[in-house]
Amino acid sequence: MKSRSLMRLALAALLSFSGVANVFAEDGPAKQLFGAARLPSLGVPQSAGFYAKGCLAGGVALPVDGPTWQVMRLSRNRNWGHPRMIALLERLSRDASAKDGWPGLLVGDISQPRGGPMLTGHASHQVGLDADIWLTPMPKARFNTDQREKVEAKSMLKGDTLYVDPNKWTPAHAALLKRAAGYPEVERIFVHPGIKKKLCETVQGDRSWMAKIRPYWGHFYHFHVRIKCQPGSPNCKPQEPIGTSDGCDKSLAWWFTDEPWRKAPEPTKPVKPRITMLSDLPKACAQILDAPGPQSIDQVTYGLDANGASVSDLPDEPVAIPLPKQRAKAN
Ligand SMILES: [Zn+2]
Repeated sequence: MKSRSLMRLALAALLSFSGVANVFAEDGPAKQLFGAARLPSLGVPQSAGFYAKGCLAGGVALPVDGPTWQVMRLSRNRNWGHPRMIALLERLSRDASAKDGWPGLLVGDISQPRGGPMLTGHASHQVGLDADIWLTPMPKARFNTDQREKVEAKSMLKGDTLYVDPNKWTPAHAALLKRAAGYPEVERIFVHPGIKKKLCETVQGDRSWMAKIRPYWGHFYHFHVRIKCQPGSPNCKPQEPIGTSDGCDKSLAWWFTDEPWRKAPEPTKPVKPRITMLSDLPKACAQILDAPGPQSIDQVTYGLDANGASVSDLPDEPVAIPLPKQRAKAN
């Protein structure tokens, strides 16, 4: 409404006059507002809210190409995350390629530049601490932009079943999941129940890492890595801690019953879908949406970590998180 907007303008002017600017970001559907942000906010990295209801300040981009990874679906602009998430992906790609016979990562969605809800897909991935990695190994050749849009990830399942196709599954798939679960900052990894079952049936020796591997719908052509709330994010809401069970128990057997796959019953009355508004998100998100961004994408693209510094080497103080190296044309 016009009068309301005018009123807001007047109020905002008054407030900025009194030195309290930006307290009112215009409210609206959160997925549209965050989906429109092309670049992150500058400043200390911070996840605000929960994985499925929040946003991200100070996000950095995973470069679309690295020696041991390629980012897919570039048009989505979802290769953004908390610097520790990005550092972890780079490290996983290096370790898996050097030690696990996995040539490199094809990286799917991480988060939007300022996190938040998305126009399509995912309920989570909102705070820069979730990433999807394809279960298809990276080919030797680089994909071009068009291929990155169109190449399809391969399902690990046998036809229409809930079971992994033994002809598609390799020891390197298991090694990659074990590698990812082994990092202390990784809290959960979501895979299809069939993949979890395969691990339950085949993993020998140390099985403690399997507690982090959680069965979930989807996730048969990619797996989803979730890291903990990171230091310096007081408004990041953690998920309940995982237990120590390897999860190869009743909780897994449930996935092989009809219940999880049954269609939800039709509601008796039509329900209007509830749209998440900016004002439904943590307060910090309105400020993050309004905060200034960088001059260019290079300024906020994570360094390639040529010195071998890994995420575990990062000190706990948020101020000490290395800022993305500016990959200026001069170097
Ligand atoms: Zn995901």
